[in-house]
Amino acid sequence: MPPFSGPTRRPGAWDVIVVGAGPAGTTAARVAAENGCRTLLLERATIPRYKTCGGGLIGASLAALPPGLRLNIHDTAGQFTFGLNGRRERTLTSACPTIAMVHRSEFDEALTEAAAAVGAEVRDGTALAALEQDGDTVTVRTGRGETLRARALVGADGSAGKVARYVGVQCAQVDLALEAEVPVDERTSARWRGRLLMEWGPLPGSFGWVFPKGDVCTAGVVAARGNPVALRAYKEDFLGRHGLLGPRPLHDTGHLTRCRRPGSPLSRGRVLVAGDAAALLDHWSREGISYALRSGGLAGSAAVRLVHASDAADAHEAVDRYARQIDDVLGVEMRASSTLMDLFVRSPGLVHTVLTRLPLAWRRLDAYVAGRTSVAGIMTTPVVRAAVALTNRFPAGAAKPPLPGR
Ligand SMILES: Cc1cc2nc3c(=O)[nH]c(=O)nc-3n(C[C@H](O)[C@H](O)[C@H](O)COP(=O)(O)OP(=O)(O)OC[C@H]3O[C@@H](n4cnc5c(N)ncnc54)[C@H](O)[C@@H]3O)c2cc1C
Repeated sequence: MPPFSGPTRRPGAWDVIVVGAGPAGTTAARVAAENGCRTLLLERATIPRYKTCGGGLIGASLAALPPGLRLNIHDTAGQFTFGLNGRRERTLTSACPTIAMVHRSEFDEALTEAAAAVGAEVRDGTALAALEQDGDTVTVRTGRGETLRARALVGADGSAGKVARYVGVQCAQVDLALEAEVPVDERTSARWRGRLLMEWGPLPGSFGWVFPKGDVCTAGVVAARGNPVALRAYKEDFLGRHGLLGPRPLHDTGHLTRCRRPGSPLSRGRVLVAGDAAALLDHWSREGISYALRSGGLAGSAAVRLVHASDAADAHEAVDRYARQIDDVLGVEMRASSTLMDLFVRSPGLVHTVLTRLPLAWRRLDAYVAGRTSVAGIMTTPVVRAAVALTNRFPAGAAKPPLPGR
């Protein structure tokens, strides 16, 4: 069947509908529109919209951006201060500073413009309220009461989205992050300029961060969901120790982060999920923008294939191929980051020591941040493999192994 296009197109009928104008959805919409599909991008909020996020773009994110994107970078971190809950701070210098600090409102708006520039129609202030499928048609009801139809739908509606529930995404790890955007005076701004802080925290698998953005610092903490009182106390302590508790924050919000279970579905019929909606996120750092951009691009291409599928077998092949592509690239990364997270939960002190005292480990992490290697690449470093093997010899709860360098 031909795509819904040209004179045969009925009102409310599209080739591809994309839900959510974050990095995943805007990329999927851009790729679908670039490939000639009549594409509608629905966004619940009014663009530009605020998003709870550090806004740190690592090399893999920068590499996945469309050429010529209008990118407003507020700082570039070349120095990394690592700490262990307020102790043993050490600042390391990057070989080539590449972690770019952006405000998500500006970044996501620029990505939306890039999708619109190649023909995607953008409707903000329009939420997906419900969806169903019949044959090769996906039907969407919006919060405004419209009924829309498409040959394929990409759900990129974030970590608590409706499409993930519809597809049945399953998670192996769910965390809660609390974050504040704090305006800073010139002295504080100068203290943080070009330097970010990562500090391993007191709760299992937790850390706090400060990301510099000129006259604002984005600072927050993340830990496993389930202990909000302890997390709030940790956040107060963390912000207080770093002099970021005084000024009234511009935003003070919380957000869930979710990591998928291996084998969790990435589609249901002609509905695909990408980015946070698919729970594609680094287990350890909770970095997700590169996952959203990369999976969004793959989902956009898969949606194009679905639009042109000549029969059910062709449509199946399109969604199977999407699942294989995600698994081959992002699945490998997530398995490696899950191993790293396991090591970190069991022994944050060991991870801190390896990272800050063994130059080879820092060089690998630095290369990952710059986009020259992957998390899987970090995990094959001999010293990291030795740390994993050492920790595995001690079951959780047993006496901790001695820390190298202590
Ligand atoms: C505190 C915190 C800090 C983080 N820091 C970093 C960082 O520094 N670097 C990094 O790489 N990653 C970071 N992440 C992860 C990163 O924010 C996410 O992985 C990324 O935003 C995922 O992009 P996305 O496009 O999948 O979803 P989102 O960016 O969440 O976009 C989803 C969009 O869908 C819209 N939407 C939701 N429901 C509907 C609906 N029903 N209809 C229409 N639209 C809908 C939402 O309004 C939203 O605009 C952080 C996460 C948190 C929580």
